[in-house]
Amino acid sequence: MKPGLLVVVSGPAGVGKGTVVSRAREKNSDIVYSVSATSRKPRPGEIEGKNYFFVSRERFIEMIRNNELLEWVEYCGNYYGTPRAYVEEQLKKGRIVLLEIEVEGAGNIKKRYPECVSIFIAPPDLDELKKRITNRGTEPSDVIERRMNRAKEEMERMADYDYVIVNDTVENASDRLLEILEIELEAANKGISGNR
Ligand code: 5GP
Repeated sequence: MKPGLLVVVSGPAGVGKGTVVSRAREKNSDIVYSVSATSRKPRPGEIEGKNYFFVSRERFIEMIRNNELLEWVEYCGNYYGTPRAYVEEQLKKGRIVLLEIEVEGAGNIKKRYPECVSIFIAPPDLDELKKRITNRGTEPSDVIERRMNRAKEEMERMADYDYVIVNDTVENASDRLLEILEIELEAANKGISGNR
């Protein structure tokens, strides 16, 4: 059977990972995206079941207790977690399954699935990141500050990842992501590890 490929993508909030991942998926329909559960409130324009499964804190805790999550974290006051069933099912089908999660969750996935490919998306610089978080205009200033501090912490974990992609432009970054996936998929099919 064709092996699937588990791919973890992290990067500080505001770096544009969502856009890079969406663009890569437009170019390669073999990639499936794991929709996370969160207790965070939806931002304007976010769609239930597409961006996240938005749940109450109570429901989230129940998911943890029922072992429904592959990993979970508390991040800036909200819970986030990866639903287990979808990921396992898609991997069995031989798909490329992409998780877009923060650094702590990524570390936990790497421990549990050492064969997964981990990719860090970095901003060209931190000032650029602050501009992006601020321009998004969806968060109050204390949340922006908290997310910027967290971003700096997350940048320190970059070296733990198999690959780093600098998000200079969405086109370049999504192409680089697809290149990495191609190399890793070919390697997985041959039973070796790619460029890592
Ligand atoms: P945001 O609130 O900006 O959508 O997400 C905050 C952070 O949580 C981002 O870094 C995002 O990648 C991460 N995140 C989203 N879903 C999950 C998840 O299921 N698990 C973990 N560990 N992090 C997640």
